[in-house]
Parts: sequence; C-alpha cells; structure tokens
Amino acid sequence: MKGNQARIYLSNLEYNIRQIKNTVGAAKLCVSVKANAYGHGDIIIARKAVESGADYLAVSSPAEGRRLREAGIKEPILLFGLSVPEMIRETVAYNLTPFVCDTEYIDALNVSAGNCARLKKDGRPVSERGFPVHLKIDTGMGRIGCRPKNAADLAAYINRCENLYLAGICTHLCVSDSLEPADIDYTQKQILRFKESIEAVKKAGIDPGLCHCSASGGILMYPDAVFDMVRTGILIYGYFPSDQIKNAKKSFDLKPVMELCASVVSIKTVEKGESISYGRTWTAPKKTRIATIGIGYGDGLPRRLCPGLHVNIRGKNYPVVGRICMDQCMADIGLEDDIRRWDDAYIFGPQKNCCGADNLAEIAGTISYEILTGISARVPRIIVP
Ligand SMILES: *Cc1c(COP(=O)(O)O)cnc(C)c1O
Repeated sequence: MKGNQARIYLSNLEYNIRQIKNTVGAAKLCVSVKANAYGHGDIIIARKAVESGADYLAVSSPAEGRRLREAGIKEPILLFGLSVPEMIRETVAYNLTPFVCDTEYIDALNVSAGNCARLKKDGRPVSERGFPVHLKIDTGMGRIGCRPKNAADLAAYINRCENLYLAGICTHLCVSDSLEPADIDYTQKQILRFKESIEAVKKAGIDPGLCHCSASGGILMYPDAVFDMVRTGILIYGYFPSDQIKNAKKSFDLKPVMELCASVVSIKTVEKGESISYGRTWTAPKKTRIATIGIGYGDGLPRRLCPGLHVNIRGKNYPVVGRICMDQCMADIGLEDDIRRWDDAYIFGPQKNCCGADNLAEIAGTISYEILTGISARVPRIIVP
C-alpha cells in the first residue's frame, strides 16, 4: 500500500553506468540529466551518476543547470540547447559549458563572460584560458550546429575572443539507433564529416579539445565513433534507444531505474454487458471484477495506452479496460484472483513479469523517452538506495 510512486532504483543506475563504461573504455562519460533526468529526478540522478563515474553532466537549459549548481554539483555541465540572449548571463554565471555554432551567439557569450569576470570580487575569469565552449557541428541532424566547412573558421573565431576558448567539438547522430542499411550508411557519413571537421580545425593549428559524437545509439553500434567522450541518457535509465538495437544487443544487460506504482483503490463486480469508463468503449463480455487504480493521464499515463496496457498486481498482469481517466483507470481482474483493495499495481519497472517503459511506448506509438519524461510532477519520486 504505497499510493502513487515513481520508485528510483539507484543501484540499477550504477549498474547501467558500469555496463557503458565497460563498453567505451577510457573515453569520458557525459550523463544526460536533462528534463529532470528523463523524469527520474535531476539532482539525485546527477549525484549518483557522478559517484558512479560520470565525468560530465548535461542539461538542455540554463535553468536546469542552475538547479544542479545550487545543489552543490561541481562537475562540468554541458548545455545541449541554445538559449535566448536573456539566459546567456546565467550560462556563464553558473559555469555551464554551452554548445555554440555561430558568431552572434559566440559574441554574446564573450560579452557575458567578460562581464561576469569583472563582476566577480576577485575579477578572475572562470579559468585562466577564459570561458570554455564546445563547437557543435551539424553533420546531418539538421537541428543546431554549423556547417562542417565553417568549423575551422569558427574555431579560430572562438579562440580570438578575449574571454572564450574552444574546449571541445561535437556533433549529434540522427539515425544511430536504426539498423536499416541506408541509415547505417548515413551515420557513417556523419561520422566521416565529423572526422573531417576535426582534421580541418587541427590543420588550422587549433586544439579541438574534447571531441564527442555518440549518444546511446552510437555507443552501442559505432565503436569507432567513441572519440574522447560519449554522451548518454536513455541507457543509464535502463532502456535501449530503439527496439531494433535492443534485439541486436541481447548480451548488453540493462536494468530499468524507475518503477511506476499505483494502488487498487476499489474493487467491484460487474455483470455481462455493463460498460466501463468514459465513452463506454469497453463492455464486460461476462461477469467479472473491475479494479479501479488511482493513476491516470494526469500522472503521465497516456490515454492512448488503452487498449493494450496491462498492470501487474501480485505478480500477474491484468488488462486495463475502457478509457484511461485523468486520475484513475480500471483493470479487469476476473473473478478468481486473490486481489484485495489497496494492493499495489505496478505500471512499469524492473520487477519480473512487469512491463518496461519501452513496452508502454510501443502501445502508445512513441519511445520510452517520452513515457519516462511524461511522468508528471504530482507523482512523488521515492529513492531506493
Ligand atoms: C539528449 C541528448 C543526448 C543523449 O541521448 P540518448 O539517446 O538519451 O543517449 C546526447 N546528445 C545530445 C546533444 C542530446 O540532446
């Protein structure tokens, strides 16, 4: 009888990180804790990741980085996303290492880094060399990044800035989680463009700093794309970036970190022909018992999970029937089973026989990332050490 909880198994996080470290060898590990650590709780995950060997953390906005700094986290934090000019001051003030890809943004950071150094009591810049930035290259993702042909010029531009220096070069792969031949070909082209960009920077006499390219898909499928560091998110939370990779990498063991649990709040017997929930989409085909479970789409259980979703009660799976409501949903538990009011109902998690967030994702036509990040703030995160 726990009520709604997202239980966070920190030992599973440590286990998953160890699997990744064994795969990438001496390369540095950057752990993505953006979007509240994929819904798991940013500060607790960041601390445990560092304790388990993460060298860098990563967030997507200055506000996310600020939370980690205010919690006392000292490790380098990469800032994956671009922010509006108003937020650039925070980027510098909280010592977040931004991705940059154009001169306008670089100029704004340079001004901010200069102001920040002057504002500090001792007047010292963040480091002797200035404020570190990573140059992001768009090798084919089409999101943020400079063209590979401009990489060397921008690298030189950064190092000419009084208050900045080039601390890294990176790119992002867009189909590294697919095993379709055309996608493998595309990824190899992206990696090649990245290598050529690094070479061009070196040829211009510039130290590229830390080179990094792979996220979870790349780590598992492209060992030649490890470079100096890998950036991983979904793997440390216990899921593969796609079902294709999950099937291809059966020997790579991962344990889900989050367990989503709710309670049976009511049980009633219904007769054949009685309907359940909004829209009357389900009618009992025979006499049965219906368990009402106190969790719904307001907690992050997407409405489109039904039909398809099963909940695990006392080790057995039961189908959720009728529409999922905002705060409740109903499961058909039959007449035979020994289920009692207040029993725990597991939605997904590491337990034997229980679904994973990836199974839910498949039913809902999305990816595990969206299921995990969608678990709403009203579900308390409970740490299991
Ligand atoms: C989110 C993100 C990652 C991590 O991706 P996963 O698939 O979760 O490993 C890595 N790099 C960038 C730029 C990202 O935005």
